[in-house]
Amino acid sequence: AGAAAAEALQHEDVARLLPRPAAESDKYRRGVVGVVAGSARYPGAAVLCVSGALRGGAGAVRYAGPAGEAVLARHPETLVHPGGPAEAGRVQSWVIGPGLGDTPGMEAVLASEVPVLVDADGLRLLDPAAVRARPAPTLLTPHAGEAAALLGAAREEVEAGRLAAARELAATYGATVLLKGSTTVVASPDPKEPVRVNPTGTPWLATAGSGDVLSGLAGSLLAAGLAPRDAASAAAYLHGLAARRAARGAPVAAYDVAEALPGAWRDVA
Ligand code: AMP
Ligand code: MG
Repeated sequence: AGAAAAEALQHEDVARLLPRPAAESDKYRRGVVGVVAGSARYPGAAVLCVSGALRGGAGAVRYAGPAGEAVLARHPETLVHPGGPAEAGRVQSWVIGPGLGDTPGMEAVLASEVPVLVDADGLRLLDPAAVRARPAPTLLTPHAGEAAALLGAAREEVEAGRLAAARELAATYGATVLLKGSTTVVASPDPKEPVRVNPTGTPWLATAGSGDVLSGLAGSLLAAGLAPRDAASAAAYLHGLAARRAARGAPVAAYDVAEALPGAWRDVA
């Protein structure tokens, strides 16, 4: 009750949000993203997440998980920290969760004083009080099943009321929530801010790993200094455009979406 209405994201809004490096920028000023994703079982999630982060405009990506070899094989520009987030050095944002299995490094990441994006396995056992107590903003990026688990609701309930579910999660966790799916929505913990609805989605995105690309991309925009609501909405917008560009009516794999991100960015900027 009393919650602000929803609004569709506009091309011009996203164009205004995208960070551009200043003439005097260096890689640190552009933002450094820390990624804790992947596992021996799911090394590909780490690769896809790092891929999204590198193409989101970060000056550097620090990878602090167990799949460093797989990450380096595809992205030699990554800084790899096998000791985990506590040993990774300074970052301007963290992304934790995709393909992680159990959640090594979760405590260190949640305690950090920079924005944190939590996705996938990071969302399991996530304590609302711990998130509300964080010294910096948090962005949660569940799909409907993950949102249902967090709310203790049925997946169908979330699907039937995506805006309400996103708002409720945002209020419970004191976090920004990007609820993924056929209609991706972004809810802010401030109920006065309208929920944003992303118009660029395409069902070709319903393919393994595409969410991992999105989390890296959104983490990169957080590192560049965008507010969580802006980082989430700009990321969802670009991600949908990239999928459309890559697909053009035919099936795509998640890595294709990551590779199409620069083209999507050019379309918007
Ligand atoms: P995940 O569930 O984490 O693998 O993420 C899947 C990605 O694909 C998210 O960005 C979703 O928003 C997107 N997606 C999945 N299904 C659809 C759909 N039917 N229409 C549009 N986007 C979708
Ligand atoms: Mg996922």
